[in-house]
This record gives sequence, structure tokens and C-alpha cells, in this order.
Amino acid sequence: MLFTQGSVALVTGGSRGIGRAVALDLAREGAHVIVNYARSERDAKEVVALIQEEGGSATSVQADVTDEEAVRHVFRQIRAEHGRLDVLVTSAGITQDRYLITMSLDQFRGPLDTNLIGTFLTCREALKLMRHRRSGSIVTLSSSSGLDGGFPGQTNYVASKGAIIAFTHALSNEAAPHGVRANVVAPGFVTTDMTRKVPTPIRKQYESRIRLGRMGRPEEIASIVSFLASEKASYMSGSVVVAHGGGLG
Ligand code: NAP
Repeated sequence: MLFTQGSVALVTGGSRGIGRAVALDLAREGAHVIVNYARSERDAKEVVALIQEEGGSATSVQADVTDEEAVRHVFRQIRAEHGRLDVLVTSAGITQDRYLITMSLDQFRGPLDTNLIGTFLTCREALKLMRHRRSGSIVTLSSSSGLDGGFPGQTNYVASKGAIIAFTHALSNEAAPHGVRANVVAPGFVTTDMTRKVPTPIRKQYESRIRLGRMGRPEEIASIVSFLASEKASYMSGSVVVAHGGGLG
């Protein structure tokens, strides 16, 4: 097990996709997992039930990560119920693809709000809680598109994901004196609802160029996140781990 008894982890966007796989993996590795969701209550409850069936420990909590007061409330609850937070994984994220020339200001702001502002709000509250125990690990979810520009129609998403990398670097500098680590995982194309939304011709074309010849599975990202979150990665902070099947050929 990667985590000692009593360890507490919060996974934003833990109801579906990569966050779901991360929640299951952290629980299997011994952490009590708080599964955050915005709208998918049934999915979040299912993740909690699955973890409990496997003998793990989990609860779910509704909060829109763009809502400052809702995020603060979640952390007040964690402080009251557990008095600690060992791991934060920020997986809540959205795409809102559209070519730039037809993109409205609101459409540009959508992914920035959820992906970047949501990451800022949750990391800020997590650092406040973690620094008291002088330990903790934050793992943010960026995307390889934040490094290579993604595909056409994703300027808003790519801007948010590039900013998450820069933000996490800066966060790791501020967090280090408090004994807290912060790292980024930047996945390529992973089979989740997010990529199922991409028009089939674009998805197929992209997939055919991945050097390993296939899209990633959420579990393959989750194992990297758990490693970074754990003491096995005790000398890693400010690192970006890219998991994109070798990239595009
Ligand atoms: P997904 O399957 O669409 O799941 C998105 C998750 O984010 C859901 O649990 C959703 O919860 C949650 N969420 C969305 N808006 C939220 C909000 N305002 N507040 C709280 N939770 C919110 O997406 P995914 O593919 O797992 O992506 C997870 C993360 O990995 C994202 O940050 C994404 O950018 C990143 N990523 C994904 C890929 C990929 O290929 N899939 C590649 C690179 C990076 P509700 O359903 O409850 O709203």
C-alpha cells in the first residue's frame, strides 16, 4: 500500500473518467478518498460504493470547483471531519471545442474557469490545510495539448492546460517550504467521456498517429497520479509527467 492508515485524499472530478480511476486507485492504495463531483451524483455514489465493496473507505461531496464558497465549504468539512488532507488531485475539467474565429468570449472562458480557476481554488485551500502538518502532495491534471497545442478548435482548453503547468510550477515553489509537493500529469488521448465527444473522424485520425498505436486507459493515468501523490515520489516536486503513448508520429 502506498498510503498509511488515516491518509485522506480529495479527488475533484472523481465521479467519471480519469478522476474516477484515480479515486479507485488511491483507495486501493490505502487512502480514504473524498470523491468530488459537480452534477453526476449517481456516478460519484457508484465510485464510493465500488471502493467500499473492495474494502476501502470513501465518501462523496458535491461542489462546483468554480464556486469559491462551495470549495471553501468542502475544505471546512474536511478540516472538521478529518483534520488533515494528505493528497489533492485536481481532475475536474471540461472541453468546449470551437474554432477560434467563431469562439465567443464566454466559450473561451468556460474551460479557463473550470480547469484553471477550479485548480487555483482547490489548490489554495489544500495548501492552507496541508501546511499545518508540513506534509501533503498535490497532483494537477494538465494535458499533453498544453505542451504541443492539441488539435484545431482547442485554443481555450490548451490555454487552460498550459496555464495549469505554469501554475503548478509556481505552486511547487511556494509549497516546498511548507513541506508540500506539487506535480503535474499531462496525459495524451485517454478513453473517457471527454474524448468520446470528439467527432469520430478527428479522433480516429489522432489515434492512428499515436506511436503506441492506441489511446490511453484512465487506469494508466491513475497509477502515475498515485505514485506522484505517494511518498515513493518524495523527491519530486514541480515535475511534469507526460503520458501520451509516445506522442504523435
Ligand atoms: P470526463 O470523463 O469528462 O470527466 C470530467 C470530470 O470533471 C467529471 O467527474 C465531472 O463531474 C468533473 N467536472 C467537470 N466540471 C466540474 C466542475 N465545475 N466542478 C467539479 N467537477 C467538475 O473527463 P476526463 O477525460 O476524465 O478528464 C479528467 C481531467 O483529465 C481533465 O482535467 C482533463 O482536461 C484531463 N485530461 C483528459 C484527457 C483525455 O484524453 N480524456 C487528456 C488529457 C487531460 P460531473 O460529471 O459531476 O460534472
